[in-house]
Amino acid sequence: MNIKPLIVANWKMNPATLGEAKILFGRVKDTGAIICPPHVYLAVLGANGAQDCFWENPPTGGGAYTGEISPVMLKNLGVEYVIIGHSERRKCLKETNEMIEKKLKAALGAGLKPILCIDKISQLPADLDKGVIIVYEPLFAIGTGKACSPEKAKKMRDFIKHTAVLYGGSVNSQNAKDYICQAGFQGLLVGGASLNPKEFIDIVKNTCYC
Ligand code: PEP
Repeated sequence: MNIKPLIVANWKMNPATLGEAKILFGRVKDTGAIICPPHVYLAVLGANGAQDCFWENPPTGGGAYTGEISPVMLKNLGVEYVIIGHSERRKCLKETNEMIEKKLKAALGAGLKPILCIDKISQLPADLDKGVIIVYEPLFAIGTGKACSPEKAKKMRDFIKHTAVLYGGSVNSQNAKDYICQAGFQGLLVGGASLNPKEFIDIVKNTCYC
């Protein structure tokens, strides 16, 4: 039985205005994909994915953590999925495996489905929860237009013994299907191409069947 791949749109720090965000969301919301806009647009759009959350999850859902967003807040907005440990956060904000593991636990505790980004096996928690969705994102492929070959990506997919593993890194409508059908991934994390509605819709369409 074919299982529909999970396609995740990571808008990163885009677009610059709420008006543009509404237009983009309106074009892609019926694709069945997980759309992760910046936090400031989440409530207005009613999107099902977020790009990050904090590791503290006070029972009330709130606390003295300036600038942070708790997993409970996301859950209360109707968000289902949250990206955790993206390489850009590891690099720019110095997020460590320890911080990321705390975020995973907090997200799971709030009933969110975490999408954990890794580029090497050492970034996998020792006690990996079954509910975590992993994304293999080789650093050289993120935002560069130089996608990892499906053959090479497949080696990593086969090595990670986990039910749900996605591929991310310069995915477009031409190469998307290969990661699902050839390399055996359960879905894709799409950055740059998710800002182009036509391209994103084509990615979703092209990965429907294997
Ligand atoms: C990403 O944001 O994780 C990503 C893979 O970006 P891109 O698709 O632009 O390489």
